[in-house]
Formats: sequence, C-alpha cells, structure tokens
Amino acid sequence: MLHIVMYHYVRDLPRTAYPRIKGMLLDDFRAQVKSFAGGFEVASLEAALAYLRGEYQPKRDLCLLTFDDGLKEHYSEATPILRELGIQGIFHMITSCLEDRVVAPVHMNHFLMAALEFAEYREAFLAKLSEMDPAAAKGIAAVNGAQAKKTYPWDLSEVASFKYFFNFLLDAQKRDAIVKALFERYIGSEKDFAGQLYASWDEARQMQSAGMLIGGHTHSHQPLSSLSKEEMRQDLRTSSSLLRKRLSEQALWPFCYPYGKNDSFTPETVETLKNLAFECAFTTEKGPSNPGVDMFRIGRVDCKAAPPVIETKEVYMAGVTQ
Ligand SMILES: [Zn+2]
Repeated sequence: MLHIVMYHYVRDLPRTAYPRIKGMLLDDFRAQVKSFAGGFEVASLEAALAYLRGEYQPKRDLCLLTFDDGLKEHYSEATPILRELGIQGIFHMITSCLEDRVVAPVHMNHFLMAALEFAEYREAFLAKLSEMDPAAAKGIAAVNGAQAKKTYPWDLSEVASFKYFFNFLLDAQKRDAIVKALFERYIGSEKDFAGQLYASWDEARQMQSAGMLIGGHTHSHQPLSSLSKEEMRQDLRTSSSLLRKRLSEQALWPFCYPYGKNDSFTPETVETLKNLAFECAFTTEKGPSNPGVDMFRIGRVDCKAAPPVIETKEVYMAGVTQ
C-alpha cells in the first residue's frame, strides 16, 4: 500500500502574524514525519511510481510526502527536517507566485479569513460583489452545501460554502479584483507579502540540491476545469516552461491539480500534461493508491487524516485543504 500525504501550511502558527491560518504545527510535522520513517518505507517519487506500475514490491507500506503551493516554510522549515532524515519531499510550485511575485487569490482568501472575523470578511466581500454584479452576489445562497462540505470537510458549513463559492463558482476576474482590493486594504502590499509567503526560484533550486523534487501546480492556480481549453493549455505551457527554465534538471516532473477534485480538471488537462512531459499528477481525492492506478489521477490523504493521525492541536488542523 502507498500512502501519499499532502501538506499545505506547516508553521509555528502561534508565533506568526496570522495564528488563525489552518495548518500543521512544526512539532507535529516533525513527529509525524519521524513516525512515518519508523512505520513505513518513505519513498522517493521514483520508487512510488515503480510500485504503482507493479515493478516494485516493498516489504513495508510506502509513504510519499507532497507539499502544495511552494510556501516559504517548505524551504525554510520542512526541507531541513526532511534532509536530515534522508527523505525526499515533492514540492508543487505555483509559477506565477515565484515569477511575478503575486499572491494566489486562494491564499489571499485564507489570510483575509485569518485577519478578520469571518462574518465581517464575508460581508465586506459580498458588499463589493453586489456593487459590481448584484446577481452574482445572490449566487452564494445557491451554493450546494453538501458539495461544499465534501470539498472542505474540515471547515464549518458557512466557511465551506463561502470557500466553494469563492474558488469554484465566482467569475475569476471579479473575484480577483475584489479580493485584491480587500487584501491591500486589510493586509498590505501584495508583492511584499508574496516575497514572504512563497519560496523564491533560488530557494527552490536549493531545495533540489538538498534532494527534494519540484513539481508543477499550474501558473495561476485556478481550477483547470473552469478555464477554456486554450487558457488551460496556455497556463500549463507557461508553468512547465518556467519550471524547466528556472530550475535544475530533474529526471521526473510531477504535477498536482489545484483544488485537486476529480472535477477540477478535464481529460484535455491530462492530455496536455502528458504532452508537456509531466510524469504523473496528484489529486486531493482520498488515497491510498494501489498498483494499476491511473498515473494522472493519483489520490492523496491530507496530513490530518494520514496514519497515524496526529490528534493534538486540533484548533490549527481544521481546514488544511484549500
Ligand atoms: Zn494549491
């Protein structure tokens, strides 16, 4: 059996400016990785793919660690821990965040929710949307609560519905204009924040030198199924060429779908990834993954749900997924 674990924020939350961000505390991360190293064979991507192709039968269950969004702490905190234990992590970068120093709207949303009371933020957001497009603002009432909860199982229902509305239903241009304005108002300069939030190209190269593997996670971090075919292809081409231009060579280039549900991408997405020589792609649908799995639909488990489950500090762990 192969357990593929996904991480997002891994940080000492109480000591950061945004302690309400949902993520894993560093001590818990360290403990979890050590317990993986004790109970599983922690695989490289090469070994994991060999297992999925039926070419490798390990003595113990395999475990593969993946990290989404190219966050700074993946460089400064997670990489040294993994390096010390001789473990290869896979880190999926959003190329526009490194190249253009922009903050992905999904992250602006996280930090606004962490900075403001949820009701206050939701109201400010919907007020701006009503000014721009009154009909769109009414759309939040039509969010399918069950679908939202399935996508965001760790969130309260009202938060899950808002995130679903924000990430999947709203027109991306309008959403981005509103969230950028609120971000500048309540948090500050996007460029400065991006420099602190994400690893740089140089840091990504240092991660490669430390034995880590870098993967694609699109250029703009939008649900690929929400883009036209041409926009989708253009986004993936840009992402792929920047990774290969800015980083050191890798024998294998993995990919991970933003939002990662089976309906977050299309068969054309898979075809485009194959054409761009990506080796495999990860979803956020539940693993474990067994031999014979479609290499472009490899499931994962959230670090919160990974065996052995880390039960402590529940307050920080809720809502780890995007
Ligand atoms: Zn992501």
